[in-house]
Amino acid sequence: MENRVYNYLNEKAPPVREDRLKACSAFGGSCCVLSEGIRKGCLNGTRRQFSQTQGCTLVLSLAILNTVRNAVIVVHGPIGCGGGNIFFAGISKAFKQLRDPKADGLIWINTNLDEADSISGGETKLKDAILFAEKEFRPEAIIVVNSCVPAIIGDDVESVVRDLQKSVAAKIVTVHCEGFRSKIMATAYDSVYHGILRNLVVGNEKPQKDYIDDEERYRAELAKSKTVNLLNVSSMSYGDELELKRILEALGLKVRILPCYSTPKDFEEVHEAALNVSICSTHDDYFVGHLKEHYNIPYVLETIPIGIENTNKWVLDIAGHFGIREQAERLVERETKELNKALEPYKKAFAGKSVFLAGGEIRVLATAQLLQDLGLEVLGMKGYHFDEFGEKLISTVKNNDNLVFNIATGQPFEQSNLLNKLKPDVYVGHVGGNVWAAKQGFPIFPIFSQAVNYMGYSGAFEVARRLNRILKNNSFNKNISRYTRLPYYNSWYEEDPFKYIENHGG
Ligand code: SF4
Repeated sequence: MENRVYNYLNEKAPPVREDRLKACSAFGGSCCVLSEGIRKGCLNGTRRQFSQTQGCTLVLSLAILNTVRNAVIVVHGPIGCGGGNIFFAGISKAFKQLRDPKADGLIWINTNLDEADSISGGETKLKDAILFAEKEFRPEAIIVVNSCVPAIIGDDVESVVRDLQKSVAAKIVTVHCEGFRSKIMATAYDSVYHGILRNLVVGNEKPQKDYIDDEERYRAELAKSKTVNLLNVSSMSYGDELELKRILEALGLKVRILPCYSTPKDFEEVHEAALNVSICSTHDDYFVGHLKEHYNIPYVLETIPIGIENTNKWVLDIAGHFGIREQAERLVERETKELNKALEPYKKAFAGKSVFLAGGEIRVLATAQLLQDLGLEVLGMKGYHFDEFGEKLISTVKNNDNLVFNIATGQPFEQSNLLNKLKPDVYVGHVGGNVWAAKQGFPIFPIFSQAVNYMGYSGAFEVARRLNRILKNNSFNKNISRYTRLPYYNSWYEEDPFKYIENHGG
């Protein structure tokens, strides 16, 4: 990361993660083989001979962009692209209004490209949609989200937007997140940040104080202001935001949260920060890397504040940038002592229980470490993809050498086979994977929900409290499994779960 160059803003889209981070999207084997393979760079480009499902970067991009306030989303594509917004609409309004009671709900328009448009082009429909959004809603920003069809037929989205921007008051932001470009959904984070950086940050800075030319003085003033950008790309709940703010404010820092739930204008001030604070390297390396290149803002990137050890490290890393490590050590000691005392009864209840975890690899590894600290045995993990950032964290999971790790976005057939063999007492996973495990009768603990606190000290307690309740009575999912079945022949469960991954396990 330190040696990587972030200079992609002259391009209309960022490179895909397969190229930029040499990430791996298909693997099944032990953690030690995975770790070695990533270090040697030989897992980049691994493939499946059979793939059941695939994630789409446009869908993940929308999950982030839908939260931006005072903005209209234009999905440029067939009506099905962005159809998932029907699911997001209510959620997005409720969680926007938690932060700002006057916030509008989600407003989105689809250019509804049809067969004729895929021959004659969709640029006219895009232009009409942008003008309609401007006239009807007068937003601060119109965010154009580009899908596969216009990218394949060659719509010149950038030219359309450049011409329209002269007559449209709203800032037009283009986000190129076509699903076909990458098998790694996390490329969506780069696409969203790329659009924000190009259209709302660089060149849109709020007028500076007169000492802007004096870099040293400017940085010293910023350090004194103790303002930090805390980055949330939709995997931090409101409860998480409150908890992380509580911790950082206890250290005397001023916290600005973005990009989720912020307004387009908020990005004009993004460079006026003493430190960028990430909660996950999978999310933010592209953004903090570019802000370091452009404005020389340092960052904290490599720890996710989930679990006691990781939260402590996150707090101490941040404090180190402000020279207040001793103050932070006292805070960490006090919080840890109180939390450990509160967790004691749960540790007894979790003794002898086992767990399988699935989700984003950084979150999975940190949550696995927390659950081990709580006394559970980790039987295996599944991450959407894997790269150098995951490799740095993998050793924090105890006894990991022979633990099974599956890298898959979707692919429920692999997971179902694996769970059938491992038989954990509880499955910790994400929306999308949870229902498959529930149908097999496993109790489910969601690894993330917008309504629940997972991060910081209070988050660790909440995980223990809720997990204990789920483990006390698992009859609901057991009953589901008695009356439903997954669509696989019994013979599939006799097979190697990673049979269709080429060179799996190295
Ligand atoms: S993969 Fe392409 S066509 Fe399918 S939903 Fe995503 S952007 Fe649309």
